Amino acid sequence: MQATTAGDFPILRKDDPSAPDYDTLRAEVDLHRELDGLLAMRGGRLNIAYEAVRHHVEDGRGDRRAIRFLPASGPPRDFTYSDLDRLSDRFAAILRAHGIAHGSTVFSLLGRGPALYAAILGTWKAGCVFSPLFSAFGPEPVRARMTIGDARVLVTTETFYRRKVMTWRDEMPGLSLVLLAGGGDDLPAGTLDLEAALEDAGGEGAEIAATGPEDPALLHFTSGTTGKPKGAVHVHAAVVVHRMTARAVLNLHGADTYWCTADPGWVTGTSYGIVAPLVSGAPMIVDEAEFDAERWYTILEREGVTVWYTAPTAIRMLMKLGEDVARGHDLSRLRFLASVGEPLNPEAVVWSQRVFGKPFHDNWWQTETGGIMIANYAGMDVKPGSMGKPVPGIEAAVVSREGERVTPVTTPDTSGELALKAGWPSMFRRYLNEPERTAKCFADGWYLTGDLAMRDGDGYFWFVGRADDVIKSSGHLIGPFEVESILMEHPAVAEAGVIGLPDPVAGEVVKAFVSLKPGHEPSEETKRDILGHARKRLGRAVAPRDIAFRDTLPRTRSGKIMRRLLKARELGLPEGDTSTLEGGA
Ligand code: ATP
Ligand code: MG
Repeated sequence: MQATTAGDFPILRKDDPSAPDYDTLRAEVDLHRELDGLLAMRGGRLNIAYEAVRHHVEDGRGDRRAIRFLPASGPPRDFTYSDLDRLSDRFAAILRAHGIAHGSTVFSLLGRGPALYAAILGTWKAGCVFSPLFSAFGPEPVRARMTIGDARVLVTTETFYRRKVMTWRDEMPGLSLVLLAGGGDDLPAGTLDLEAALEDAGGEGAEIAATGPEDPALLHFTSGTTGKPKGAVHVHAAVVVHRMTARAVLNLHGADTYWCTADPGWVTGTSYGIVAPLVSGAPMIVDEAEFDAERWYTILEREGVTVWYTAPTAIRMLMKLGEDVARGHDLSRLRFLASVGEPLNPEAVVWSQRVFGKPFHDNWWQTETGGIMIANYAGMDVKPGSMGKPVPGIEAAVVSREGERVTPVTTPDTSGELALKAGWPSMFRRYLNEPERTAKCFADGWYLTGDLAMRDGDGYFWFVGRADDVIKSSGHLIGPFEVESILMEHPAVAEAGVIGLPDPVAGEVVKAFVSLKPGHEPSEETKRDILGHARKRLGRAVAPRDIAFRDTLPRTRSGKIMRRLLKARELGLPEGDTSTLEGGA
């Protein structure tokens, strides 16, 4: 590997003196002890919905605001813990009244609104499994996932139902209940009006299903960045990781105002857009509208958001619009900013420090891990470009594999596969119906992530690339992230995606796809200038041979650049599964 960008950016010193430091947290937290303690208090039962709402009500916090929903237009709607508890009781009662058995799967195809929260919490209260889908999916990705998950119930809207489900509904006789949120005068046959059903349901204060820690709670499909999406099964025990990471990593407390911008169709939207804030008792903002920079800054300012969790793709869009837009708002309440989903370029961390007075704290995890695994905490120094250190209770290592033997690499700054010691509570238990794909992820007591990383001498982890994306050129192993970060330093570059193309001499050569910031036009001169910058920073062997300009780069709906698609298109190969492509199927 080339030297990382680590040395080129200053270390940002721990900025919150009240945050416990890293070593203290690591010494304090034992996730299995936390789980045992919680189980002892709950008489051996565990149900996320109990922890998220009912528990607050029983402890006298029912009247506190849990969520402020911000509709795309119109006034905000506030819900207390008691409101959510009652609403989800009613949802659970609907499932029971329709004979939906314990363990059945309830799918949603919904935006972020009250119906989603009622449905997910109510599903858990009834002892069922919830599977949220991106509402932007077309009919085929919806059908495929609902088939894999053996859907019994679907909660969606009339529009989505007509467009994405109605044509194939007959093929799925097991789908016995379809609830439509948002009303409509003339709902299609075989569906029920959700609000009317909730109104009639009763069931308030009913006992929550007696689930245990190993009962399935969520079926979450991966983003499909590298291929066909996998349905990861998560259990109720995961809640201890959400609670701990909210406290220790996001530094989230009852007095905060929290905002997670992720869609529930990917795992951040459920783990940190639903579970973590509710179990932490921290009031949250839920924006029902699509991304809009001016709106986002207005929300941060007007709602006084203190802890903000978003993704690199959104941060890059804000950067593209420039600093003046941000400076027009008073964002002084912001206390902690976090990012997940893709590598966060050091440029973005430094930008945020300059514009918000706080760095974005990158953290790394996957659908499979259920919660944050490697992170920059409030209580530690931030090295821009690094994912940070393992969260308390999690053992992470860069490993080498020989057959079934997995060995942690002890030499710092050596790249290898990122692995986690298996068995933490929010670890996925399996890919649904895919035992072979599941088995491939585990060896020698480790979970192998499929990502490549390096660990430096201070114990910070650096993302190198997805194993599938790494480029081998003239004996060098090149991580796309490193090259993309260097390209982004150039003032004209808004976004970059880097792939390897076959080359008879070098094995592979690097090609970059770049979109430009407003005010810059693609030209030979711009290309030469960017290539020159890359060569100077990276050396000839690693710098791109060529750059192609694009208005936008292909990305998943969760915002990840799909390098495999850039490559397939470049080489004229089949595109593979594109069901999660933004603006695609
Ligand atoms: P699939 O497994 O279907 O190809 P996916 O891996 O993109 O899709 P997710 O589980 O949503 O699905 O994403 C997890 C992946 O996202 C990680 O394995 C990693 O490659 C990337 N990722 C997440 N956070 C970070 C981060 N902070 N830095 C670098 N990469 C990250
Ligand atoms: Mg993955």
